[in-house]
Amino acid sequence: MTEPAIVAENLVYRYGDLVAVNDISFEVAEGEILGFLGPNGAGKTTTVSMLTGQRRPHEGRVTLLGRDVTQETAAVQAEIGISFESANLYEELSGIENLRLFARLYGVRDLDTDSLIERVGLEGRGNDRVSGYSKGMKQRLMVARALLHQPRILFLDEPTEGLDPVSAQAIRNLILEENERGVTIFLTTHDMMEADRLSHRVAFIDQGEIVALDTPYNLKQRYGRRIIEVDIADDEGNIERREMDMDEPDTPKELQALFRDERVTTIHSREASLEDIFIEITGRELV
Ligand code: ATP
Repeated sequence: MTEPAIVAENLVYRYGDLVAVNDISFEVAEGEILGFLGPNGAGKTTTVSMLTGQRRPHEGRVTLLGRDVTQETAAVQAEIGISFESANLYEELSGIENLRLFARLYGVRDLDTDSLIERVGLEGRGNDRVSGYSKGMKQRLMVARALLHQPRILFLDEPTEGLDPVSAQAIRNLILEENERGVTIFLTTHDMMEADRLSHRVAFIDQGEIVALDTPYNLKQRYGRRIIEVDIADDEGNIERREMDMDEPDTPKELQALFRDERVTTIHSREASLEDIFIEITGRELV
């Protein structure tokens, strides 16, 4: 077995009396995409800043690619790429100048700025000042910056938030391409559909604790109810939708009664979404 890319052991972080991260432990395998999901204030940002060596845990330990992050911060940071709210860009410089500056910091010599700019969908805008970029463009530039030294682990915080659908898809494709090259990806997101589509496993974090961690498939098997949606028309043609639990013992009888007594217009089944499961586990909405 190869060594995990990320090992978090019993991490605790407090802001005064508030325990923002409360004893969390997990591992991410090399080449895995882990979706890290939780509502605002759950402790995602604090966790990522400990994983990436930006904050020192009050308790516990982080090991990335076999190295202790607190003891070997610089060596570890050379192997990771971070696209994060707190990772500021130089607003007075152009997109390309920002990339060149970071390439120098990382000692990258053969930087192909054009191809990077193109990969994140900023072609034609690379020479414009970042101060004139939209939020989405800045986000894309941060993803480009995170990639320029070809890191082995990528930490991406809400990489598609606020992007139009085409740019969001470009970023998702890029995540998958990087992953195919073997890059491990730690993806923080609110977007359950995105997490479901991209992640090999997802972790749910709530109030500083990991409350579930598994593949989307297993989570759906374990927690998710299968639902039947039935549309019924009344005499005026108004449609009412009823939901039934496919696995309840009375459902077949109730369904039969509906077909006998009412005008069923459509019927279809759906599996629970990760959002449904998050609510089931925590009693709380994700967004
Ligand atoms: P979001 O999705 O809103 O970014 P998050 O899941 O990233 O939320 P954190 O930012 O890690 O959550 O915050 C966890 C808890 O710690 C929250 O209750 C937050 O208010 C608190 N917190 C975060 N940063 C600080 C700080 N610098 N000082 C005091 N409390 C903080």
